[in-house]
Amino acid sequence: MTTWRPTTHCRDCGVSVAGEWYTVHDHVWAAAGMERLGGCLCVGCLEARLGRGLNAADFTAAEINSLDPKWNRYAWASRTDRLVARLLDCAPLPGQLSLF
Ligand SMILES: [Zn+2]
Repeated sequence: MTTWRPTTHCRDCGVSVAGEWYTVHDHVWAAAGMERLGGCLCVGCLEARLGRGLNAADFTAAEINSLDPKWNRYAWASRTDRLVARLLDCAPLPGQLSLF
């Protein structure tokens, strides 16, 4: 039996994905060549694998993707600007492209 070890670092660039907790639909994850529970990708690396930007339709309806303030007490509700921009389906403003 293989034990899955949770990691908090992007598989591709190694950066901590704190601030970029999200779930996307299985077909999006598969299109990026990722397996379920295959690790984490930061937004930038997932988009690089997909060859396109993420949009709101890529994300599941899970609470972790919800911008409802009722979830604000959870650590995953502290998000990078670029993740919020994708969840809201709007382009980040200039100067909001930095990782954290
Ligand atoms: Zn990355």
